[in-house]
Amino acid sequence: MIEQADHINSIPAYKPGRSSVEGWDGPVYKLSSNENPYPPLPTIVDAAARAAAHMQRYPNMAAPEFRAALAARLGVTDDEIVLGGGSVESAAQIVRAFAGYGDEVIFAWRSFEAYPLLVKSVQATAVDVPLTSTEHHDLPAMLAAITPRTKVIFVCTPNNPTGTVVDHEELREFIRQVPSNVLVVVDEAYTHFVNDTKAARGLDIYREFENVCVLHTFSKAYGLAGLRLGYTIAREDVRAGIVKTAMPFAVSDVATAAGVAALEVESQLQERVDLLVSERDRVEAELALMGWNVPPSQANFFWIAAGDETDKVQEHLLGHGIIARPFSGSGIRVSIGMPEANDAVLAALRTYRENL
Ligand SMILES: *Cc1c(COP(=O)(O)O)cnc(C)c1O
Repeated sequence: MIEQADHINSIPAYKPGRSSVEGWDGPVYKLSSNENPYPPLPTIVDAAARAAAHMQRYPNMAAPEFRAALAARLGVTDDEIVLGGGSVESAAQIVRAFAGYGDEVIFAWRSFEAYPLLVKSVQATAVDVPLTSTEHHDLPAMLAAITPRTKVIFVCTPNNPTGTVVDHEELREFIRQVPSNVLVVVDEAYTHFVNDTKAARGLDIYREFENVCVLHTFSKAYGLAGLRLGYTIAREDVRAGIVKTAMPFAVSDVATAAGVAALEVESQLQERVDLLVSERDRVEAELALMGWNVPPSQANFFWIAAGDETDKVQEHLLGHGIIARPFSGSGIRVSIGMPEANDAVLAALRTYRENL
């Protein structure tokens, strides 16, 4: 029997979302991973296919064409963009580079499930600061949690899984009080879905504060989850650390070619994002009328704060062919899908309440 290292043994195994439903022969909607329900546009598929024709080669890790296109889009220099195999890998690069044994990494909780795993796997201490009663980041409590051992703070906005955003001015006020040797990572995986003008704008925060970097991904708005493409926007000191801890060749030429093509059709992709946003706002309004406790979401999913009822609601959704993402005792995250899927969710949540 091969024993895991002690610090790994204490990490619970990751449970991937389900993808089938027993005992239901109607349509099944997989709304458990915040994927974009639209298939990729043809030009993106073509670009990926062309790149796939030379897959006997290792990728060009510098990905100059993609980084240049992205830098132009964001108004930063090419050097400020460091790629990752999905922004989960970017987050892992950061944790590995800046936190070691005994160091502390602060994040809100509940937030992105990857944070505690990444932190514990480098033997650093995960300092999880509970969300407020409205499911928002508790920035004063996160400030109070800073110690001389704090190395990194993750701010996830919109927050996965609750969908809530951090206010821009409140985030500025927060970072002003964070020691300048602590790296603040603004994880903006869902930034394209934000329509609240007061929400934090990571890039502006990055430009204002030297100890900030920003994570973005092509998995959600750009619909490339299966290709693994994300990046950090960072200055030279942070970049120098994370290039050392990046997994070599984690980002394929297929992914970066698709990324270039996606940036070329970004306005078309944004139209789909806008449809998802209007669906989100529609679903949320209907759920509020039914009496569900759903905090205001700025992402492509919403959170049912079901508390002790979570398992029951989850069973009910499964019984209607809806695969969501439950967190037992806490709540359920449901991704926004095509209108038909969202209607199915609304219908199921309506019958749940009617049968109470
Ligand atoms: C989905 C997600 C990511 C990015 O995932 P990748 O597919 O690895 O790019 C990062 N942060 C949060 C909070 C997410 O929900």
